[in-house]
Amino acid sequence: MECVIYFEDYQKDVLSKLYTSAYEEENASIRFSGGNGKLAPEMERLLYDNPEVFIIAVLDMVPENSDIVTIYNHLKMIGKLHPEFQRRYIIIPNVCAEYRFIKAFKERKLFRSREDVDLCLNKGDYRKSSLLNQLFLEEGVYHKNFEKYCKFILKYTVNHCISIDSVENELLQKFYLEDCDCKDCDFSRESLKDKFIDEYEATERICRNTVMGGTEQEKRNHDAW
Ligand SMILES: [Zn+2]
Repeated sequence: MECVIYFEDYQKDVLSKLYTSAYEEENASIRFSGGNGKLAPEMERLLYDNPEVFIIAVLDMVPENSDIVTIYNHLKMIGKLHPEFQRRYIIIPNVCAEYRFIKAFKERKLFRSREDVDLCLNKGDYRKSSLLNQLFLEEGVYHKNFEKYCKFILKYTVNHCISIDSVENELLQKFYLEDCDCKDCDFSRESLKDKFIDEYEATERICRNTVMGGTEQEKRNHDAW
């Protein structure tokens, strides 16, 4: 059996690339639907096409995004319409990739605004952010939900090598793709990958336990019972 971890993000996003490059588990693959509306139909097709697949759907459940209930219901509906698929997929709630990244690296000196990192990780009222309000007055910067606010932090409060605003320019997205040599990026890409993937530990564990019967150690622990 093969485990597929399905994200709703776009494959071209730097955080998608970072996650994919960090993932080393065998017998598992990663897919990106490129939009949450595509997640359920793509998963349903995959369950049809490949009877050997088990899917972990990582769904971004961002506050104030009204689409989520619809998407979640679509995902649940797959199992209701096809009882044979019911035990072949699971939905794991996420906040969003950007939130995971900010959480993983909160201790590092990557972010210029401590206030925004704290506000974000405490899931506070982002409308109270001083920086956001300042940029709203100066440039009309506005964000309609929490996920956009997480993107805002990764765009306005970091060096240009980290800024997700610069993803279209390959010279500027170095941080995610190779060892960045600028003075603020004081850690290797290997440690970057490890730290980011640790954030998804629960997903990895489900994949291992459900499909591969656990690690050798976990199997031994199980046999001991
Ligand atoms: Zn850098």
